[in-house]
Amino acid sequence: MSPDLDPSTVVVHAGRPARVPDAPLGESPVFSSTYIAGGDRGYGRFDNDAWAALETTLGQLEGGRGLTFASGMAAAAAVMDLVPVGGRVVAPAHAYSGVLALLDQQAATGRLKVDRVDIADSEAVAAAVAGADMLWIESPTNPAMEVADLPAICAAGRAAGATTVVDNTFATPLLQQPLSLGADIVMHSATKFIAGHSDVLLGAVITADDSLWTALELRRRSLGAIPGPMEAWLALRGLRTLALRLDRAQSNAAFLAAKLLEHPRISRVRYPGLPGDPGHARAAAQMSGFGAILSIELGGDAERAQRTCENTALWVHATSLGGVESMLERRRRWAIEVPTIPDDLIRLSVGIEHPDDLWNDLAEALEA
Ligand SMILES: *Cc1c(COP(=O)(O)O)cnc(C)c1O
Repeated sequence: MSPDLDPSTVVVHAGRPARVPDAPLGESPVFSSTYIAGGDRGYGRFDNDAWAALETTLGQLEGGRGLTFASGMAAAAAVMDLVPVGGRVVAPAHAYSGVLALLDQQAATGRLKVDRVDIADSEAVAAAVAGADMLWIESPTNPAMEVADLPAICAAGRAAGATTVVDNTFATPLLQQPLSLGADIVMHSATKFIAGHSDVLLGAVITADDSLWTALELRRRSLGAIPGPMEAWLALRGLRTLALRLDRAQSNAAFLAAKLLEHPRISRVRYPGLPGDPGHARAAAQMSGFGAILSIELGGDAERAQRTCENTALWVHATSLGGVESMLERRRRWAIEVPTIPDDLIRLSVGIEHPDDLWNDLAEALEA
C-alpha cells in the first residue's frame, strides 16, 4: 500500500486479500486446528489467516511487524519473557494493574527484578534504567493519566541497552506510534479501542526488529497463548472503524473534561487535552489526539465516587474501556490497584453516544 496514505485510510484498507476476480473483500477466519502436509503452515498454533490480516494492519499502522496474542496480558507476558533470568525491569509506578501485578509475581519468584519509577519524571527514568534489561512504559498511564516523554525516555532506555516497550493501549495506533518515537516494541490490549465493542479479548505486539519479532513469535507458539480465529477476525472488523469511533469519542471526552473541570464536587480532572493538564504539552508533541479516557477525583470522597458509579443509567458501571459504550469505575474497588491511586478516583472511558446524554447522566449521578 502507498506509504502516503493517511492512517485513517490504512485502517480501512490494510490486510485485505489481493484484488483479483471473485476474491472476497476481507480475510475470513480459518477454523482448522491443522493443515494438509506439504506446505509452510503445519499447525493451528503457528498460523491463521485471520491473525495475519490483523497483524498486517497493525504492523502498517505502527510501522513494524505485528503479532497477535490471546489477550493483552498474554502479549505482555511474552514480552516480559524476553528479560533474561535475574534481569531487571524498570516499570511505571502507575500503570495497568495486571501488568504491574505480573511483574511483582515474577519478582517474588526471583524470575526478575523490578524498579518502579514515576514515568513522567524523565530524569528519574534515565537514572533507573542504567544497567536494566527492559524499560516498560505506558503513556498515558492507566488510570492516573500521566504522560511520559516518549522520545526522551526511549532514548535513555536505548542508550542504557535496555529493550524499551510501550503499552500503547490508551493512545491506539492512530494517535501515537511509539516505534517512530524510539521504542523497540509496542504492546496493545486490542480488547480495548482496537476491537472496540467490548466483545473480544485480544492482545498484540508490534516491532520493527526482526530478531525481537522472531523471539516473540517463538514464545507465542511455545507458551501457546494464541488468539482464536474468530476473535482475531472480530478485532479486525472492529479496527476498520477505529478512526471514526475515536473522532467521536475524543470530541465527547474533550467536551466532558471541560464540563467536569467546572463541577463543584470534582477536585481534579486528568485529561491530556486540557490546556492546564501536566501532560498537555508532551501529549500535544507526541500524539495526534488526546484520546477518550479521563480520570476524575471527588475531593477525597470515595463513598460518593462509588455511589456515582452505581447511580448512572446510561454510563455502564464496569471495568475495561475503549468500547463504543461509555464506561466508568472507581479503580480502587479492585484490591490489585496500586495503593497510591486515590480512593476517590473514577476512570471514565468515553464512548460514541451523544455528548449531551452522557453529560446529563453523569451530572445526575454526581448529585445522587
Ligand atoms: C486492559 C489493559 C491491559 C490488559 O489487556 P487484556 O486484554 O485485558 O489482557 C494491558 N494494558 C492496558 C493499558 C490495559 O488497559
